Amino acid sequence: MMEEDKEEGFIEELIECPFCGGFVPNEFECSLCGYELVELEIDGRTKITCSNCRAEVDEEREECPSCGTLFIL
Ligand SMILES: [Zn+2]
Ligand SMILES: [Zn+2]
Repeated sequence: MMEEDKEEGFIEELIECPFCGGFVPNEFECSLCGYELVELEIDGRTKITCSNCRAEVDEEREECPSCGTLFIL
C-alpha cells in the first residue's frame, strides 16, 4: 500500500493590516509595514489561509483545495 504523499500544514488566520492593507499573521506588528498591531482593535477583515500556499480556504476544510496540504488541527 502506497500512502499518498501529502504535505502537512495548518490553517492560518491572517488579519488585514489597517496601515498597509496587507494580510499578515496576527502578531505584535505587521510583518509587511512594521506598524504595531498589538494595541489596536482590529475590526478589519480576516481570512483563513493555507500555511503552505497562502490560498484562502474554508475554516472547516481538512485539506487545502489548492495545494492538497493536510491541515493538522
Ligand atoms: Zn502593515
Ligand atoms: Zn495550500
